[in-house]
Amino acid sequence: MTAKIIDGKAFAAGIRAKVAGHVARLKEENGITPGLAVVLVGEDPASQVYVRSKGKMTVEVGMNSYEHKLDEGVDQGALLALIDRLNNDPEVHGILVQLPLPRHLDADLVINSINPEKDVDGFHISNVGLLGTGQKSMVPCTPLGSLMMLRDHLGSLSGLDAVVIGRSNIVGKPMAQLLLGDSCTVTIAHSRTKDLPVVVRRADIVVAAVGRPEMVPGDWIKPGATVIDVGINRIERDGKKILVGDVEFASASKVAGAITPVPGGVGPMTIACLLANTVTACCRANGLTEPEGLTA
Ligand code: NAD
Repeated sequence: MTAKIIDGKAFAAGIRAKVAGHVARLKEENGITPGLAVVLVGEDPASQVYVRSKGKMTVEVGMNSYEHKLDEGVDQGALLALIDRLNNDPEVHGILVQLPLPRHLDADLVINSINPEKDVDGFHISNVGLLGTGQKSMVPCTPLGSLMMLRDHLGSLSGLDAVVIGRSNIVGKPMAQLLLGDSCTVTIAHSRTKDLPVVVRRADIVVAAVGRPEMVPGDWIKPGATVIDVGINRIERDGKKILVGDVEFASASKVAGAITPVPGGVGPMTIACLLANTVTACCRANGLTEPEGLTA
């Protein structure tokens, strides 16, 4: 079997087009422009790249982008004061604090100081609780994008066996909650899981979110399974720097029914879902109907 390659780039372009359409309607019919504020602390090069591309795509879909760059050594009080200002700014519908934060800052405290209705990353403890209890929430972007691709490929996920490898608060745990919400039988595997190959082999859906290059070989995959590879790992091969996922694409794509590539799979969906969450937050803040198909 040769797997269908799930084209995250094309899928994400479709989501951004939907967001852009909705933004245009909000402007025309309601005189509202959704706004996304991104807060970056310090000079981490990867974070700078992410923040730049988030800003660029925010503007491309017609929304306002507000970037706040703070010095590496900023004190917590000043960061919390900025978040408080953004919480109270009616032009700002989404707030994202780029992680990781420098060590001297309490990331949990910072994230939990964001108004949950503007928490477009979905990391605020209120949103975590709402998602966990199946209530309307802001859903973390990477799991949301992964869920959208699964639904698009499989239709109903009800009754399927799903294994999520990785239990982080950012990807693994919310992914498992979303799959449970879609009535999958969910297993969360992690670094202490015994006999991971056996656990993975029974899954109709495998979501790998570990951060270990190509740790899941093709012979762990059940024939016909759908594989979502969240991992982004930079490695050197044949003297070239390349990106690979947590799944060994060459072997897994011979066994799986469908698979996301790295790059070009989950990655582009993350920013598209951030924009989707911002437009959803803007609609909720203004008591307007939410766009369909842009949230869980
Ligand atoms: P993390 O380090 O917070 O969590 C990794 C998880 O993997 C942990 O829960 C750990 O228990 C588990 N783990 C580690 N070794 C394992 C092993 N040998 N077997 C089974 N489980 C093991 O990472 P994260 O933030 O969840 O990110 C995971 C990966 O996803 C990274 O490569 C990251 O770059 C990538 N990521 C991609 C996107 C995207 O937009 N595509 C977004 C977020 C994260």
